[in-house]
Amino acid sequence: MLSDDCVFCKIIKGQIPSTKVYEDEKMLVFKDIEPKANVHLLAVPKDHFKLLSQMDEIRAQTLSYMLAKIPQIAAQNGCANGYRLVINQGDDAGQTVFHLHIHILGGENLPW
Ligand code: AMP
Ligand code: ZN
Repeated sequence: MLSDDCVFCKIIKGQIPSTKVYEDEKMLVFKDIEPKANVHLLAVPKDHFKLLSQMDEIRAQTLSYMLAKIPQIAAQNGCANGYRLVINQGDDAGQTVFHLHIHILGGENLPW
């Protein structure tokens, strides 16, 4: 299910522009609008939920599917030499978009 007032749902629905690098029936990967590394992609499930704690069996399968797809997507988008995955959870992590997403950071030797 998608939400009417979520920026990533709007990107999935094509109501907000994005630079897509990969899309299939379960997930979308697009460029972060404020990149924090030379390569900064966001992988989002085509299902609106905020936190890992809201996962059920279907969502867990989708996340597993996404993790299996990410290596090839990363390698094809400038991260053949390695990358970092980040999932911010809640306020203390600075989560600003409340649609679960995986940051893919790379394209350089990342500072910690
Ligand atoms: P987080 O802090 O983990 O919630 O990350 C949200 C990320 O979404 C940030 O890195 C933002 O730069 C990015 N972001 C917000 N709006 C957009 C947008 N319209 N297109 C692409 N990236 C976005
Ligand atoms: Zn959403």
